[in-house]
Amino acid sequence: MRPLLVVPALLFLGSCAVNPVTGKRELSFVSEAQEIQMGQQLLAQSQQQTGFYNDPALAQYISGIGMKMAQASERPQLPWEFHLLDDPVVNAYAAPGGFIFITRGILAYMNSEAELAGVLGHEIGHVTARHSASQMSKQQLMGAGFLIGAIAAPDLAQGIAGQAAMGFSQLLLLKYGRDDESQSDALGHKYSLAAGYDVREMSNTFITLQRVSAASGGGGPPAFLSSHPDPGDRAAATQRWADTVSSFANLTSGRDRFLDRLNGMVYGEDPRNGYMDNGRFIHPALRFQFAVPAGWQVVNQASRVVAVEPNGRGQLEFTQAPEATAQAAGTAFAGQQGLTVLSSGRTTVSGLPAFGVAFRATSGQQGQVIEGEAVFIEYNGSVWRMMGLVVPSAAQAIGGALGQSIRSFGPTAANQTFRRVRELRIVTPTGPTTATSLAAQSGGAITAQELALINSIETDQRIPAGRKIKTVRYR
Ligand SMILES: [Zn+2]
Repeated sequence: MRPLLVVPALLFLGSCAVNPVTGKRELSFVSEAQEIQMGQQLLAQSQQQTGFYNDPALAQYISGIGMKMAQASERPQLPWEFHLLDDPVVNAYAAPGGFIFITRGILAYMNSEAELAGVLGHEIGHVTARHSASQMSKQQLMGAGFLIGAIAAPDLAQGIAGQAAMGFSQLLLLKYGRDDESQSDALGHKYSLAAGYDVREMSNTFITLQRVSAASGGGGPPAFLSSHPDPGDRAAATQRWADTVSSFANLTSGRDRFLDRLNGMVYGEDPRNGYMDNGRFIHPALRFQFAVPAGWQVVNQASRVVAVEPNGRGQLEFTQAPEATAQAAGTAFAGQQGLTVLSSGRTTVSGLPAFGVAFRATSGQQGQVIEGEAVFIEYNGSVWRMMGLVVPSAAQAIGGALGQSIRSFGPTAANQTFRRVRELRIVTPTGPTTATSLAAQSGGAITAQELALINSIETDQRIPAGRKIKTVRYR
């Protein structure tokens, strides 16, 4: 695994730079080279934590649209990259330096290339107007750093600093102000228009996201909208800009070709990557399971699973160890600098050969002591690491539950049935139909409400024959 983001100390040396979009001089703590470096770090982190969706044709399609728009922007010289994340969450974000990320979750709700271009254009706008870079400057100025400093032992840093890393992407996602968002919307409109897209469709994206937010039952808006201006206002604003366009004759929606690209894309959570079921984390492909303490928040990342105690006083981390045996992995772990081994030795977990290490480590910056237990387990030709970390004041309260979880690792039952993968299907009805009717034919893969939502229609709205439409099926 890669080391996580380290903010260069150089950030404190502020300088004045000209904003590429506004042309105004502003206080900037971040040079273009530093922006690119930050972006590359977030790229590595996104790939490791979320992972990219494995469909080269779809990825290339998205990248092609993004590149065309970025190269016509105010900062064509940046090393632009566009990535499709294997994430069901409705989200898109930009990292400084020209790295744009869009989830398959948000893609499922879009209905044309013009809508996609609008979202990509908005994210490009955050980069060209240097929003995240200037946000980093402000954060540095306020002295707000990461919550938890690096821990001496590099292997442990990946555990607890992981939360700080999540904080970093949230910082990029959430801290844009209303002005930044409006400016990015305006830039998205401008880039979309320049690339020949029907800019009237941009407002539809906001209307859809607003519906997604409402349908989530007040459980919070999609990440894309968090702390962003009211999507209703944004829909109205983008519509006003579209109204100033004199002719739409040469502008394209690209509806059908966009929908064709989505055919077969995984919809919702991909159970093959593991999922929570009744307090247990289940991995169908790797055929293991383990219990998670009740109420802990589980984050299932590409290379590890993390469960965090609600007050952040402890965490459970599950990952694969590169060594060939549990003992070799345990010995290598125990030998890390900055780690005080309290005890170590062979053990078994669910009858599987294992090696346990109880230890103490000290956080680099704040000198915070952390107690931990790592158990390395041999299963199916690999070595798996279950690690519990706890702050000493909470050891009494949560140490027991943590230990039980570590020892709950084991194979899935031989007769266990797993959740099935769902995928988008683009169909062309031969006669008039409705979302209600299409959902009834989905074998329970999708509800009428959800189907209406992803198609940006109402459940009983008449869908004319011959019009391409999204539905969802079990694979
Ligand atoms: Zn934004």
